[in-house]
Amino acid sequence: MNLAKFPRRGYVKEPTPIEYLPNFSAALGSKVNVYIKRDDLLPGCGGGNKTRKLDFSIADALKQGADTVITCGAVQSNHCRLTLAWAVHEGLDCHLVLEERVKNSYNPEASGNNFLYQLMGVKSITVVPGGSPMLEEMEKVAAKLRAEGKKPYIIPGGASNPVGALGYVACAQETAQQLFDMGLSIDHVIVPSGSAGTHAGMIAGFVGNNIDIPMSGIDVSRPHDVQENLVYNLAQNTLNHIGVNVTLPREKVVCYDAYYQPGYSLPNPGMIEAVKLLAQTEAILLDPVYSGKAMAGMIDLIRKDHFPQGANVLFLHTGGSPALYAYLSTFRG
Ligand SMILES: *Cc1c(COP(=O)(O)O)cnc(C)c1O
Repeated sequence: MNLAKFPRRGYVKEPTPIEYLPNFSAALGSKVNVYIKRDDLLPGCGGGNKTRKLDFSIADALKQGADTVITCGAVQSNHCRLTLAWAVHEGLDCHLVLEERVKNSYNPEASGNNFLYQLMGVKSITVVPGGSPMLEEMEKVAAKLRAEGKKPYIIPGGASNPVGALGYVACAQETAQQLFDMGLSIDHVIVPSGSAGTHAGMIAGFVGNNIDIPMSGIDVSRPHDVQENLVYNLAQNTLNHIGVNVTLPREKVVCYDAYYQPGYSLPNPGMIEAVKLLAQTEAILLDPVYSGKAMAGMIDLIRKDHFPQGANVLFLHTGGSPALYAYLSTFRG
């Protein structure tokens, strides 16, 4: 698919590595060969998946003459950290609206991403209760800034709209070319599924290019039927935005929802095991909210013989390790 017609800033200079995980695969009984796509190593302060999306979102903001970006997320949002980071890089102001999805979870003294918001000089943080209409809350901030003569551009949560999702369409194309160059045939791809731009972009990229590798999303916040609809609609809208005349087959979108309980961002034993196992076998850091829970899902599927013996399974590591430092007691316990 032709993505060159869309403006982007060029934040992603080269493909992120695809690595084999021999020790981790052995620790899971050598049932499958686990590979990892290192989007945790993407450029941008602290790394992670939002850089691919912001490459397109911020280009769109600049094209529209913005001097300020506003975005939203949870209190330890990687997306907010990376939006701020790229705004700093571009000389744009950045304002954040943080949703307290877990009551009283915002602590201005907290470590992790929250510390980095301050360090990188966020212009303002507005904290709103869980369930608030985030677009409206961001509009309020935008109206105030416009009255001060600013030109704000709103990036939705996770940059998960058809503009941001282009970043993961590009990742799907990059991955396919890289697997060809490596001579590596992958049987299944696992991705974290949150605000859905990553999962939807990957699906749109595979389907739009006739790449028939099955993909599963591991939910971090929603039941699978709700999440599948979210991913499906965004993937279809992204294909439409690119101008590809394809109706996405519904069965391409598969999500598993057994791994995020007791709720978004709240630790569970599977996540803790996954973060520790990957750190102790491969020295690769996951995060407590997204990649840790997604990896816990993949570990469980491997143990349950969901994949045939000897299959090559690729895990998309979306990053997030700065959030670990806001969860020290979870891992020390
Ligand atoms: C945002 C995020 C995700 C989820 O990606 P979506 O595109 O929102 O579904 C996964 N991992 C990390 C580390 C993230 O910050």
